[in-house]
Amino acid sequence: MPADYHTHTPLCRHAHGEPEKFVESALAAGLTEYGISDHAPQIPEPFDDWRMAVAELPAYFDWIKRARKHAAGRIPIRAGLECDWLAGCESWIADLASRYEWDYLIGSVHYLGDWDFDNPKWLGRWAQSDVEAVWTRYWETYAQMADSGLFDILGHPDLVKKFAHIPPGDLNRYYEPVVDAIAASGSVIELNTAGWHKPCADAYPSSGFLELACSAGVPLVISSDSHAPEEIARDFAKAIQIAKAAGYRETQLFEKRARRSEVMP
Ligand SMILES: [Zn+2]
Ligand SMILES: [Zn+2]
Repeated sequence: MPADYHTHTPLCRHAHGEPEKFVESALAAGLTEYGISDHAPQIPEPFDDWRMAVAELPAYFDWIKRARKHAAGRIPIRAGLECDWLAGCESWIADLASRYEWDYLIGSVHYLGDWDFDNPKWLGRWAQSDVEAVWTRYWETYAQMADSGLFDILGHPDLVKKFAHIPPGDLNRYYEPVVDAIAASGSVIELNTAGWHKPCADAYPSSGFLELACSAGVPLVISSDSHAPEEIARDFAKAIQIAKAAGYRETQLFEKRARRSEVMP
């Protein structure tokens, strides 16, 4: 099984489980590696209610240490963060990058301006929105994140479809410019299985996006976005099939922000 690098901890306030349980789950799934990438702190604080605080970073490092101690050579434990791409965030990302010996940083777009559009709290705001306008803004923001070159992995590419608000017609008009930006950046994307359990009932990204990304030479990881031990490696067999159908043969491994590939089973 590939590595599972997009996983959370209770420090983000909407995940649960002890590090030992996550490690056991990763071992049971036969993962190559288990990576921890909780929602990064964001300044100015308090920023929102779904991430660790800056003052909790030492507790996060302890959590990673506990996972490593429990793994005890049985599986590599990688250290990462899921960072938010926000206007003007570059110096904060550089600051976070300097605070630990990270194996990788994930960049994600959860915010369009002040709106964390994937938060179920704001479903009413979706109901009042022009879906095409939101999609246009989302993909422009995503391409800017890719252009920044600050992240090893770009998270859940089409998260904007989470609540099944999808414009009509051929979606390649959104995908093509952003796939070009990702390919030029040299970043890796993830095939995130959590979307299968959301209203959109599809992985992030869709197969159409994945095919374009593969053709453009964009490397891939497969991630569960797990917020509980039992979600580690969830739907990985299905994800491998879909990745292969899109043309992928390999997934990526990260150590100290350097990557290498491994062939999918
Ligand atoms: Zn989360
Ligand atoms: Zn996310």
